[in-house]
Amino acid sequence: MALAECRCCGQAFISGPKNEDTCPSCVVRLNKLYPRVRNFLRNDAGTHYTAYDVSKILDIDLRDVEKFITMGLIEKNFNSGRLQETKNGGRRRKI
Ligand SMILES: [Zn+2]
Repeated sequence: MALAECRCCGQAFISGPKNEDTCPSCVVRLNKLYPRVRNFLRNDAGTHYTAYDVSKILDIDLRDVEKFITMGLIEKNFNSGRLQETKNGGRRRKI
């Protein structure tokens, strides 16, 4: 247990034994948000979207989109910057 700063909202919170970097309220919010982002990327698989585009179009915080990238749920193509759903489930990890 230690005092930590949430990397999504910047709020201080007490992290658990896994040294979480996201506060409990953001975890709840991100869990609700992710299906929207995933469906959006699936439905527009042929379109070029950056993290900034996704945040603007879905009206969500850019930091939340970047958090999904950090979590390995979506990935960024290093050449184009385009976002896509991570194909390799093995890279997924919990918030
Ligand atoms: Zn937070």
